[in-house]
Amino acid sequence: MSQVIGFQCPHCNAPLDINPEDAIFNCEACGQALLSDGSIFDNHYILSNSISKGNIQDIVKNFIKKKGKLRGIKKYKITNISPILLPFWSVAVSASTHYMGYRQYTETRTRTRRGSKGQTITTTEHITVYRHVENNINEKRLVVLIGRRGSSMYGYENAKEIIRRDFNKAVPFNHNQLVKTEKDFQYLSSEIAADAANQLAKTVVFDDHRAQAEKACTKVFDCATQITFEGVYFVHIPVWKVDYHFKGETYRVAISGNTGEIIIGEIPVTKIFRMIFLSLTFLFLIGGGTFSYFLGYSAVATSIAGIIVSLLGLLTLRNVFKPMTVVG
Ligand SMILES: [Zn+2]
Repeated sequence: MSQVIGFQCPHCNAPLDINPEDAIFNCEACGQALLSDGSIFDNHYILSNSISKGNIQDIVKNFIKKKGKLRGIKKYKITNISPILLPFWSVAVSASTHYMGYRQYTETRTRTRRGSKGQTITTTEHITVYRHVENNINEKRLVVLIGRRGSSMYGYENAKEIIRRDFNKAVPFNHNQLVKTEKDFQYLSSEIAADAANQLAKTVVFDDHRAQAEKACTKVFDCATQITFEGVYFVHIPVWKVDYHFKGETYRVAISGNTGEIIIGEIPVTKIFRMIFLSLTFLFLIGGGTFSYFLGYSAVATSIAGIIVSLLGLLTLRNVFKPMTVVG
């Protein structure tokens, strides 16, 4: 059970409720990022929000039009629009690894000599060769981590890619700027503190460098990584979570407030769509059968072609049974 402790924001004096499980959270009134003891945390960034509730209709409409072709989706209704700020950590590290090991491989050697009767004798030998491997990995990297443990927030994992791609466009968080675009953004706090984010980033880089060493060697003797932390940033991305209703079912779309792009979205598989794919499946299966029947005995390649076309038929059959298509 989590308890809630009353506090006052050190920045704007608004009353705050702190959940002890939050390592870092925001004052709802002024947006100030705060640590669990109520003190100020300043390294707070955002990918600025550029869309409003008014844009949502158009974005969803375009999404369904572009990704939901051949489905005849017309009478859908947007039932819920929630603007949320999803929390991430961006950890900038410079890392260098030195590793040593050996690589084992087999070499084939062919020797030719002349026999006693003047004939040519060829012998082939397979020799196991061990080669010493020693190398360095040096890199500067931004490790992006989600701020919550096991959160099932829609689109959270996919938004991570956007942070990684666009972190250079992140700006210091500005509450006034944000509320100008939308005043109902809900802040999600981070359960991971800055120190823990650093440790997690370190593990990510260690594991990755170790994996690279293991790929380069048959056996790694030694692998040592040194890490310098160059900055740890708490970053929010504005995400618009949209629910829409179509023929009795609800579908979800997560839209980046920064670019308006679809982070992840669901599109219904309609009856029309099922029929089209079912017909395609039959065509492929019949095509595959015909190939094999008429040409199968004359050449191996043609019966293989028959099998491939039949497999294509089975692949299209998958589309017939899916409840929805997920794009993102
Ligand atoms: Zn405040």
